Amino acid sequence: MGKVVGIDLGTTNSVIAVMEGGKPVVIANSEGMRTTPSVVGFSNDGEQLVGQMARRQSVLNPQNTYSAVKRYMGRRYAELSPESKRVPYTIRKDESGNIKIKCPRLRKEFAPEEVSAMILRKLAEEATRYLGEPVTGAVITVPAYFNDAQRQATRDAGRIAGLEVMRVLNEPTAASLAYGLDRREQQTILVFDLGGGTFDVSVLDIDDGVFEVKATAGDTQLGGNDFDKKIVDWLADQFLEKESIDLRRDRQSLQRLMEAAEKAKIELSGVTVTDINLPFITATEDGPKHLETRLVRSQFEDLCRDLIGRLRSPVKQALADANLTSRDIDEVVLVGGSTRMPMVKQLVRSLIDREPNENVNPDEVVAVGAAIQAGILTQEVRDIMLLDVIPLSLGLETIGGVTKN
Ligand code: ADP
Ligand code: MG
Repeated sequence: MGKVVGIDLGTTNSVIAVMEGGKPVVIANSEGMRTTPSVVGFSNDGEQLVGQMARRQSVLNPQNTYSAVKRYMGRRYAELSPESKRVPYTIRKDESGNIKIKCPRLRKEFAPEEVSAMILRKLAEEATRYLGEPVTGAVITVPAYFNDAQRQATRDAGRIAGLEVMRVLNEPTAASLAYGLDRREQQTILVFDLGGGTFDVSVLDIDDGVFEVKATAGDTQLGGNDFDKKIVDWLADQFLEKESIDLRRDRQSLQRLMEAAEKAKIELSGVTVTDINLPFITATEDGPKHLETRLVRSQFEDLCRDLIGRLRSPVKQALADANLTSRDIDEVVLVGGSTRMPMVKQLVRSLIDREPNENVNPDEVVAVGAAIQAGILTQEVRDIMLLDVIPLSLGLETIGGVTKN
Protein backbone atom coordinates (compact mmCIF):
# COMPACT_ATOMS: atom_id res chain seq x y z
CA MET A 1 0.00 0.00 0.00
CA GLY A 2 1.20 3.52 -0.78
CA LYS A 3 1.35 6.45 1.58
CA VAL A 4 -1.62 8.34 2.99
CA VAL A 5 -1.10 12.09 3.27
CA GLY A 6 -2.98 15.01 4.78
CA ILE A 7 -3.99 17.84 2.46
CA ASP A 8 -5.31 21.29 3.31
CA LEU A 9 -7.02 22.25 0.05
CA GLY A 10 -7.34 25.96 0.79
CA THR A 11 -9.08 28.78 -1.06
CA THR A 12 -5.79 30.63 -1.48
CA ASN A 13 -3.06 28.13 -0.61
CA SER A 14 -2.81 24.38 -0.24
CA VAL A 15 -0.45 22.38 1.96
CA ILE A 16 0.46 18.69 2.06
CA ALA A 17 1.85 16.89 5.11
CA VAL A 18 2.65 13.33 6.05
CA MET A 19 3.54 11.33 9.17
CA GLU A 20 7.18 10.33 9.22
CA GLY A 21 8.60 8.44 12.15
CA GLY A 22 5.53 9.34 14.18
CA LYS A 23 5.83 13.07 13.48
CA PRO A 24 3.90 15.24 11.01
CA VAL A 25 6.11 16.76 8.32
CA VAL A 26 5.05 19.47 5.85
CA ILE A 27 6.39 18.71 2.39
CA ALA A 28 7.90 21.59 0.41
CA ASN A 29 7.09 21.80 -3.29
CA SER A 30 9.71 21.77 -6.04
CA GLU A 31 9.93 25.57 -5.82
CA GLY A 32 10.95 25.10 -2.18
CA MET A 33 7.74 26.51 -0.71
CA ARG A 34 5.72 24.80 2.00
CA THR A 35 2.48 26.33 0.80
CA THR A 36 1.34 26.12 -2.83
CA PRO A 37 -1.03 28.75 -4.22
CA SER A 38 -4.38 27.11 -5.08
CA VAL A 39 -4.16 28.56 -8.57
CA VAL A 40 -4.29 26.71 -11.89
CA GLY A 41 -3.48 28.39 -15.18
CA PHE A 42 -2.86 27.69 -18.81
CA SER A 43 0.00 29.63 -20.36
CA ASN A 44 -0.12 31.15 -23.82
CA ASP A 45 1.57 27.96 -25.02
CA GLY A 46 -1.26 25.92 -23.51
CA GLU A 47 0.92 24.47 -20.76
CA GLN A 48 -0.78 23.66 -17.46
CA LEU A 49 0.62 25.66 -14.53
CA VAL A 50 -0.20 24.98 -10.88
CA GLY A 51 0.80 27.11 -7.91
CA GLN A 52 3.23 30.00 -7.95
CA MET A 53 3.73 29.96 -11.74
CA ALA A 54 -0.02 30.15 -12.30
CA ARG A 55 -0.41 32.86 -9.72
CA ARG A 56 2.25 34.96 -11.40
CA GLN A 57 0.24 35.14 -14.61
CA SER A 58 -3.08 35.88 -12.90
CA VAL A 59 -3.33 39.55 -13.84
CA LEU A 60 -1.61 39.15 -17.22
CA ASN A 61 -3.67 36.17 -18.42
CA PRO A 62 -6.84 36.45 -16.31
CA GLN A 63 -9.14 34.45 -18.58
CA ASN A 64 -6.99 31.32 -18.32
CA THR A 65 -6.01 31.53 -14.65
CA TYR A 66 -8.24 30.12 -11.95
CA SER A 67 -7.97 31.13 -8.32
CA ALA A 68 -10.34 30.58 -5.37
CA VAL A 69 -12.13 27.74 -7.19
CA LYS A 70 -12.93 26.28 -3.77
CA ARG A 71 -15.80 28.78 -3.63
CA TYR A 72 -17.49 26.83 -6.45
CA MET A 73 -16.99 23.30 -5.14
CA GLY A 74 -20.30 21.47 -4.84
CA ARG A 75 -22.33 24.60 -5.50
CA ARG A 76 -25.10 25.15 -8.02
CA TYR A 77 -24.79 28.23 -10.20
CA ALA A 78 -28.07 29.55 -8.80
CA GLU A 79 -26.70 29.42 -5.24
CA LEU A 80 -23.83 31.79 -5.93
CA SER A 81 -23.85 35.28 -4.50
CA PRO A 82 -23.15 38.16 -6.91
CA GLU A 83 -19.75 38.73 -5.21
CA SER A 84 -18.62 35.15 -5.66
CA LYS A 85 -19.41 35.35 -9.40
CA ARG A 86 -17.15 38.36 -9.78
CA VAL A 87 -13.90 36.71 -10.86
CA PRO A 88 -11.43 37.57 -13.64
CA TYR A 89 -12.21 34.35 -15.52
CA THR A 90 -15.54 33.23 -16.96
CA ILE A 91 -17.90 30.87 -15.22
CA ARG A 92 -21.21 29.74 -16.66
CA LYS A 93 -24.20 27.61 -15.86
CA ASP A 94 -24.44 24.34 -17.77
CA GLU A 95 -27.69 22.61 -18.83
CA SER A 96 -28.06 20.98 -15.40
CA GLY A 97 -27.41 24.16 -13.44
CA ASN A 98 -23.84 23.21 -12.51
CA ILE A 99 -20.89 25.60 -12.63
CA LYS A 100 -18.45 25.38 -15.52
CA ILE A 101 -15.18 27.28 -15.76
CA LYS A 102 -14.19 28.39 -19.25
CA CYS A 103 -10.70 27.93 -20.60
CA PRO A 104 -10.41 30.00 -23.78
CA ARG A 105 -6.82 28.91 -24.35
CA LEU A 106 -7.74 25.20 -24.59
CA ARG A 107 -11.25 25.92 -25.95
CA LYS A 108 -12.78 23.77 -23.25
CA GLU A 109 -14.50 23.94 -19.89
CA PHE A 110 -13.75 22.50 -16.50
CA ALA A 111 -15.87 21.54 -13.54
CA PRO A 112 -14.58 23.04 -10.25
CA GLU A 113 -13.68 19.50 -9.12
CA GLU A 114 -11.41 19.08 -12.13
CA VAL A 115 -9.51 22.27 -11.37
CA SER A 116 -9.16 21.29 -7.69
CA ALA A 117 -7.96 17.86 -8.84
CA MET A 118 -5.09 19.52 -10.74
CA ILE A 119 -3.96 21.13 -7.48
CA LEU A 120 -4.29 17.86 -5.55
CA ARG A 121 -2.37 16.04 -8.29
CA LYS A 122 0.51 18.49 -8.12
CA LEU A 123 0.70 18.17 -4.33
CA ALA A 124 0.54 14.37 -4.46
CA GLU A 125 3.31 14.31 -7.08
CA GLU A 126 5.51 16.54 -4.95
CA ALA A 127 4.91 14.22 -1.99
CA THR A 128 5.66 11.13 -4.08
CA ARG A 129 8.94 12.72 -5.15
CA TYR A 130 9.81 13.58 -1.55
CA LEU A 131 8.83 10.21 -0.10
CA GLY A 132 10.17 8.09 -2.93
CA GLU A 133 7.02 6.00 -2.84
CA PRO A 134 3.60 6.57 -4.38
CA VAL A 135 0.94 8.52 -2.52
CA THR A 136 -2.31 6.63 -2.89
CA GLY A 137 -4.58 8.00 -0.20
CA ALA A 138 -5.41 11.31 1.44
CA VAL A 139 -7.30 12.99 4.23
CA ILE A 140 -8.56 16.27 2.79
CA THR A 141 -9.86 19.11 4.94
CA VAL A 142 -12.92 21.27 4.33
CA PRO A 143 -14.48 24.24 6.15
CA ALA A 144 -16.80 23.14 8.96
CA TYR A 145 -19.73 24.83 7.23
CA PHE A 146 -19.35 22.78 4.02
CA ASN A 147 -22.57 20.88 3.25
CA ASP A 148 -22.86 17.36 1.88
CA ALA A 149 -22.60 18.46 -1.75
CA GLN A 150 -19.45 20.48 -1.07
CA ARG A 151 -17.88 17.57 0.82
CA GLN A 152 -18.81 15.19 -1.98
CA ALA A 153 -17.25 17.53 -4.57
CA THR A 154 -14.05 17.50 -2.51
CA ARG A 155 -14.05 13.70 -2.50
CA ASP A 156 -14.63 13.71 -6.24
CA ALA A 157 -11.69 16.06 -6.78
CA GLY A 158 -9.50 13.61 -4.87
CA ARG A 159 -10.75 10.70 -6.94
CA ILE A 160 -10.11 12.60 -10.21
CA ALA A 161 -6.58 13.22 -8.93
CA GLY A 162 -6.18 9.46 -8.48
CA LEU A 163 -6.33 9.51 -4.68
CA GLU A 164 -8.40 7.43 -2.35
CA VAL A 165 -10.00 10.00 -0.07
CA MET A 166 -9.91 8.23 3.27
CA ARG A 167 -11.70 11.02 5.09
CA VAL A 168 -12.98 14.55 4.70
CA LEU A 169 -12.05 16.37 7.90
CA ASN A 170 -13.24 19.73 9.25
CA GLU A 171 -10.49 22.36 9.13
CA PRO A 172 -10.98 23.55 12.75
CA THR A 173 -10.92 19.93 13.94
CA ALA A 174 -7.65 19.39 12.07
CA ALA A 175 -6.15 22.51 13.64
CA SER A 176 -7.17 21.35 17.12
CA LEU A 177 -5.68 17.91 16.45
CA ALA A 178 -2.39 19.51 15.48
CA TYR A 179 -2.23 21.03 18.97
CA GLY A 180 -3.08 17.73 20.62
CA LEU A 181 -6.11 19.35 22.19
CA ASP A 182 -7.95 16.04 21.92
CA ARG A 183 -5.68 14.55 24.54
CA ARG A 184 -7.08 16.49 27.44
CA GLU A 185 -10.35 16.47 29.31
CA GLN A 186 -13.49 18.19 28.05
CA GLN A 187 -12.85 21.64 26.69
CA THR A 188 -14.24 24.36 24.49
CA ILE A 189 -12.07 25.74 21.72
CA LEU A 190 -12.40 28.76 19.49
CA VAL A 191 -10.68 28.47 16.13
CA PHE A 192 -10.01 31.81 14.46
CA ASP A 193 -9.09 31.28 10.80
CA LEU A 194 -8.17 34.24 8.61
CA GLY A 195 -6.85 33.04 5.26
CA GLY A 196 -6.33 34.77 1.93
CA GLY A 197 -9.92 35.45 1.00
CA THR A 198 -12.12 34.07 3.76
CA PHE A 199 -12.63 34.37 7.48
CA ASP A 200 -14.02 31.49 9.56
CA VAL A 201 -14.70 31.29 13.27
CA SER A 202 -15.63 27.95 14.79
CA VAL A 203 -16.45 26.95 18.32
CA LEU A 204 -15.70 23.30 19.08
CA ASP A 205 -16.38 21.09 21.99
CA ILE A 206 -13.82 18.34 22.47
CA ASP A 207 -14.40 15.49 24.82
CA ASP A 208 -12.73 12.11 24.83
CA GLY A 209 -11.79 12.19 21.15
CA VAL A 210 -15.16 13.50 20.02
CA PHE A 211 -14.97 16.85 18.25
CA GLU A 212 -18.27 18.62 17.99
CA VAL A 213 -18.66 21.82 16.01
CA LYS A 214 -20.95 23.96 18.17
CA ALA A 215 -21.13 27.02 15.94
CA THR A 216 -19.56 28.56 12.89
CA ALA A 217 -19.58 32.15 11.66
CA GLY A 218 -17.43 34.22 9.38
CA ASP A 219 -17.16 36.38 6.32
CA THR A 220 -16.66 34.69 2.96
CA GLN A 221 -15.38 37.93 1.42
CA LEU A 222 -12.70 38.93 3.91
CA GLY A 223 -9.08 37.83 4.01
CA GLY A 224 -5.44 38.69 3.45
CA ASN A 225 -6.15 39.87 -0.10
CA ASP A 226 -8.12 42.78 1.33
CA PHE A 227 -5.10 43.83 3.37
CA ASP A 228 -2.94 43.65 0.23
CA LYS A 229 -5.45 45.79 -1.61
CA LYS A 230 -5.14 48.53 1.02
CA ILE A 231 -1.42 48.75 0.22
CA VAL A 232 -2.03 48.59 -3.55
CA ASP A 233 -4.44 51.52 -3.30
CA TRP A 234 -2.14 53.46 -1.02
CA LEU A 235 0.75 53.04 -3.48
CA ALA A 236 -1.37 53.74 -6.55
CA ASP A 237 -3.02 56.82 -5.06
CA GLN A 238 0.35 58.29 -4.13
CA PHE A 239 1.69 57.65 -7.60
CA LEU A 240 -1.44 59.09 -9.19
CA GLU A 241 -1.06 62.27 -7.21
CA LYS A 242 2.59 62.67 -8.10
CA GLU A 243 2.66 61.48 -11.70
CA SER A 244 -1.00 61.65 -12.77
CA ILE A 245 -0.90 58.01 -13.86
CA ASP A 246 -3.18 55.34 -12.39
CA LEU A 247 -1.02 52.22 -12.21
CA ARG A 248 -4.09 50.08 -11.56
CA ARG A 249 -5.15 50.54 -15.18
CA ASP A 250 -2.15 48.74 -16.61
CA ARG A 251 -2.14 44.97 -16.09
CA GLN A 252 1.61 44.62 -15.92
CA SER A 253 1.89 47.42 -13.32
CA LEU A 254 -1.04 46.11 -11.32
CA GLN A 255 0.47 42.61 -11.13
CA ARG A 256 3.70 44.11 -9.80
CA LEU A 257 1.85 46.34 -7.34
CA MET A 258 -0.07 43.35 -5.98
CA GLU A 259 3.05 41.26 -5.52
CA ALA A 260 4.90 44.14 -3.85
CA ALA A 261 1.95 44.86 -1.57
CA GLU A 262 1.74 41.29 -0.32
CA LYS A 263 5.48 41.18 0.22
CA ALA A 264 5.38 44.44 2.20
CA LYS A 265 2.45 43.16 4.27
CA ILE A 266 4.28 39.93 5.12
CA GLU A 267 7.43 41.86 6.05
CA LEU A 268 5.45 44.11 8.35
CA SER A 269 4.42 41.07 10.37
CA GLY A 270 8.06 40.72 11.38
CA VAL A 271 9.52 44.24 11.26
CA THR A 272 8.02 47.68 11.81
CA VAL A 273 9.09 49.35 8.58
CA THR A 274 9.58 48.17 5.02
CA ASP A 275 10.85 49.70 1.79
CA ILE A 276 8.89 49.24 -1.40
CA ASN A 277 10.89 49.61 -4.61
CA LEU A 278 9.40 49.09 -8.04
CA PRO A 279 11.83 50.32 -10.68
CA PHE A 280 10.48 50.92 -14.21
CA ILE A 281 6.90 50.57 -12.98
CA THR A 282 5.73 52.57 -16.02
CA ALA A 283 7.01 54.99 -18.63
CA THR A 284 5.94 58.34 -20.05
CA GLU A 285 7.32 60.57 -22.80
CA ASP A 286 9.82 61.80 -20.20
CA GLY A 287 11.19 58.28 -19.79
CA PRO A 288 10.85 55.48 -17.26
CA LYS A 289 9.18 56.03 -13.89
CA HIS A 290 10.09 54.31 -10.65
CA LEU A 291 8.12 53.79 -7.49
CA GLU A 292 10.08 54.07 -4.28
CA THR A 293 8.54 54.46 -0.88
CA ARG A 294 8.52 53.27 2.69
CA LEU A 295 5.64 51.85 4.71
CA VAL A 296 5.58 51.84 8.50
CA ARG A 297 3.58 49.17 10.35
CA SER A 298 1.47 51.68 12.25
CA GLN A 299 0.58 53.38 8.98
CA PHE A 300 -0.45 50.02 7.50
CA GLU A 301 -2.56 49.33 10.58
CA ASP A 302 -4.30 52.67 10.13
CA LEU A 303 -5.14 51.76 6.54
CA CYS A 304 -6.72 48.50 7.74
CA ARG A 305 -8.90 49.78 10.60
CA ASP A 306 -12.16 48.91 8.86
CA LEU A 307 -10.97 45.38 8.06
CA ILE A 308 -10.04 44.74 11.68
CA GLY A 309 -13.47 46.05 12.67
CA ARG A 310 -15.11 43.48 10.41
CA LEU A 311 -13.37 40.62 12.26
CA ARG A 312 -15.20 41.34 15.50
CA SER A 313 -18.81 40.49 14.86
CA PRO A 314 -18.35 36.91 13.55
CA VAL A 315 -16.47 36.05 16.77
CA LYS A 316 -19.32 37.44 18.85
CA GLN A 317 -21.85 35.71 16.63
CA ALA A 318 -20.18 32.30 16.96
CA LEU A 319 -20.05 32.64 20.75
CA ALA A 320 -23.68 33.70 20.91
CA ASP A 321 -24.77 30.83 18.65
CA ALA A 322 -22.93 28.37 20.89
CA ASN A 323 -24.60 29.98 23.94
CA LEU A 324 -21.23 30.88 25.38
CA THR A 325 -19.31 33.93 26.47
CA SER A 326 -15.62 34.54 25.91
CA ARG A 327 -14.95 33.31 29.47
CA ASP A 328 -16.14 29.82 28.53
CA ILE A 329 -13.36 29.40 25.96
CA ASP A 330 -10.53 27.19 27.21
CA GLU A 331 -8.26 27.47 24.18
CA VAL A 332 -7.93 29.74 21.17
CA VAL A 333 -6.29 28.40 18.02
CA LEU A 334 -5.02 30.74 15.31
CA VAL A 335 -5.25 29.43 11.77
CA GLY A 336 -4.51 31.04 8.39
CA GLY A 337 -1.51 33.01 7.19
CA SER A 338 -3.21 36.31 7.91
CA THR A 339 -3.26 35.64 11.67
CA ARG A 340 0.50 36.32 11.56
CA MET A 341 -0.29 40.03 11.42
CA PRO A 342 0.27 41.57 14.85
CA MET A 343 -2.91 43.65 14.57
CA VAL A 344 -4.95 40.47 14.06
CA LYS A 345 -3.42 38.68 17.05
CA GLN A 346 -4.03 41.75 19.14
CA LEU A 347 -7.67 41.80 18.12
CA VAL A 348 -8.08 38.14 19.09
CA ARG A 349 -6.51 38.81 22.49
CA SER A 350 -8.84 41.74 23.02
CA LEU A 351 -11.91 39.62 22.21
CA ILE A 352 -10.94 36.55 24.19
CA ASP A 353 -8.72 37.05 27.13
CA ARG A 354 -6.42 34.09 26.42
CA GLU A 355 -3.00 33.68 24.92
CA PRO A 356 -3.71 31.99 21.58
CA ASN A 357 -2.07 28.74 20.52
CA GLU A 358 0.35 29.67 17.77
CA ASN A 359 3.33 27.34 18.04
CA VAL A 360 2.39 25.52 14.86
CA ASN A 361 2.62 27.71 11.74
CA PRO A 362 -0.90 29.04 11.17
CA ASP A 363 -0.77 28.37 7.45
CA GLU A 364 0.37 24.76 8.00
CA VAL A 365 -1.62 23.75 11.07
CA VAL A 366 -4.61 22.37 9.14
CA ALA A 367 -2.45 20.15 6.92
CA VAL A 368 -0.55 18.95 9.99
CA GLY A 369 -3.85 17.93 11.62
CA ALA A 370 -4.90 16.18 8.41
CA ALA A 371 -1.62 14.23 8.42
CA ILE A 372 -2.24 13.18 12.03
CA GLN A 373 -5.71 12.00 11.05
CA ALA A 374 -4.15 10.07 8.15
CA GLY A 375 -1.79 8.52 10.71
CA ILE A 376 -4.72 7.51 12.89
CA LEU A 377 -6.42 5.81 9.93
CA THR A 378 -3.30 3.91 8.92
CA GLN A 379 -2.63 3.11 12.60
CA GLU A 380 0.68 4.90 12.52
CA VAL A 381 -0.70 7.07 15.32
CA ARG A 382 -2.30 5.04 18.07
CA ASP A 383 -4.22 5.83 21.25
CA ILE A 384 -6.45 8.46 19.64
CA MET A 385 -10.01 7.93 18.68
CA LEU A 386 -11.55 10.66 16.64
CA LEU A 387 -15.12 11.45 15.79
CA ASP A 388 -15.83 14.69 13.97
CA VAL A 389 -19.45 15.69 14.41
CA ILE A 390 -21.48 18.52 12.94
CA PRO A 391 -24.90 18.90 14.48
CA LEU A 392 -27.93 19.55 12.28
CA SER A 393 -28.52 22.76 14.19
CA LEU A 394 -25.86 24.37 12.00
CA GLY A 395 -28.40 24.18 9.23
CA LEU A 396 -26.34 21.95 6.99
CA GLU A 397 -28.02 19.78 4.44
CA THR A 398 -27.50 16.33 5.82
CA ILE A 399 -29.34 13.16 5.15
CA GLY A 400 -30.40 11.00 8.03
CA GLY A 401 -29.27 13.01 11.01
CA VAL A 402 -25.80 13.86 12.12
CA THR A 403 -22.96 14.20 9.62
CA LYS A 404 -20.12 11.97 10.62
CA ASN A 405 -16.91 12.30 8.70
P1 ADP B 1 -6.27 29.95 2.74
O1 ADP B 1 -6.65 29.19 3.95
O2 ADP B 1 -7.24 31.04 2.38
O3 ADP B 1 -5.98 29.10 1.56
P2 ADP B 1 -3.70 30.77 4.00
O4 ADP B 1 -4.02 30.34 5.36
O5 ADP B 1 -2.53 30.17 3.33
O6 ADP B 1 -4.92 30.74 3.00
O7 ADP B 1 -3.48 32.36 4.07
C1 ADP B 1 -3.05 33.08 2.98
C2 ADP B 1 -2.92 34.54 3.34
O8 ADP B 1 -1.99 34.68 4.42
C3 ADP B 1 -2.40 35.39 2.20
O9 ADP B 1 -3.19 36.56 2.07
C4 ADP B 1 -0.99 35.73 2.65
O10 ADP B 1 -0.55 36.98 2.15
C5 ADP B 1 -1.17 35.78 4.15
N1 ADP B 1 0.09 35.65 4.89
C6 ADP B 1 0.99 34.64 4.85
N2 ADP B 1 2.03 34.89 5.66
C7 ADP B 1 1.79 36.11 6.21
C8 ADP B 1 2.52 36.95 7.13
N3 ADP B 1 3.70 36.59 7.62
N4 ADP B 1 1.96 38.13 7.47
C9 ADP B 1 0.76 38.51 6.97
N5 ADP B 1 0.05 37.78 6.11
C10 ADP B 1 0.56 36.59 5.72
MG1 MG C 1 -7.17 27.78 5.19
